[in-house]
Amino acid sequence: MQKYGYLANEAVSSQTKDTFRCQICGERAGFNWSDYSGEAMCNRCGTPYQLIDRKIPKEELPNLKIKPEWIPVLKQYWDETHSYMGLGTISICPADYPECVKGQRLFNEWLDEHSELIPNEEA
Ligand SMILES: [Zn+2]
Repeated sequence: MQKYGYLANEAVSSQTKDTFRCQICGERAGFNWSDYSGEAMCNRCGTPYQLIDRKIPKEELPNLKIKPEWIPVLKQYWDETHSYMGLGTISICPADYPECVKGQRLFNEWLDEHSELIPNEEA
């Protein structure tokens, strides 16, 4: 299982915990921590959110950590595969996050086959 378990839910206010739906998979599955401070991933699809950040107003947390142009791409991947992506930050040891390593690999393979969906990031 995840390095830090599934305890990230405790960081979300009780009010938010009951109502928050992931913006990618639409589930209320809760969160698991990544290696980045205050960042966690949806337990169902692995989309990263910032749960704790003193610089972000509390009412804007959990804050989706996906660039807007990538949101439709992730939604399409989720709709087609229902596969965990594990897109949170892994900065120390990938072996601690086997689900994320596998999820990111499968997502990248899918992107290779759908390269027309990759947003143009040259601005
Ligand atoms: Zn999700």
